[in-house]
Amino acid sequence: MIRVTCWNEYYKERMDETCKKAYPNGIHEAIKEVLSTDEHIICRTATPDEPECGLTQEALDATDVLIWWGHINHHLVPDEVAARVVHRVLNGMGFIALHSGHMSKPFMKLMGTSCDLRWRESEDHERLWCVNPGHPICAGLPPYFEIPKEETYGEFFDIPKPDEVVFLGWFSGGEVFRSGCCFTRGAGRIFYFQPGHESNPVYKQKEVGQVIRNAVHWAAPAFTHTAVFGEFASLEKK
Ligand code: ZN
Repeated sequence: MIRVTCWNEYYKERMDETCKKAYPNGIHEAIKEVLSTDEHIICRTATPDEPECGLTQEALDATDVLIWWGHINHHLVPDEVAARVVHRVLNGMGFIALHSGHMSKPFMKLMGTSCDLRWRESEDHERLWCVNPGHPICAGLPPYFEIPKEETYGEFFDIPKPDEVVFLGWFSGGEVFRSGCCFTRGAGRIFYFQPGHESNPVYKQKEVGQVIRNAVHWAAPAFTHTAVFGEFASLEKK
């Protein structure tokens, strides 16, 4: 089984009527539901309501893939929690940053760039193209799919050069965006996926759910890795 923790800052779904309507139980519960259709995945959720944001060392040690949704409260995640997440990724935990998770502390630390982009809330529709059709994250998906209403994200997206770009987004306002990007850092696999603005129930769309399930499988570590560093005796006699 792949052990997933779905972390959500769980703020706007409690403060804003539109978001509450889109996700009555929060984005984390919607994603958990999307993952529940996969018999190889077991998902727990975590929010800032819990001690240490629900991301204690023990919780992270029992996580194969961490999914992250955050938006306006990135700064409320303690630095030591973010550092703990980064350390686990470097040692093999998969990390999936969704939508505005591009500015989360763990993602920014893992990327090392500003991770900034251009945006607009004008209910554009988005067409997502699978530009890497042989990639496992594209499994079972059509050549492209449409999201009826999505926040517009546009280039330039200040990320390091991805190992692979899997999806390219086009918005009806004219922008394009690298909407699905794969990275490796240390032993960990990282996937950034752009769709999922909180005002529209994008995560309930079947193609989006398929992408997230595929990404969990891709990012899951094949085995437990712990890097060994430091001084090391010579293997050969001199
Ligand atoms: Zn948004």
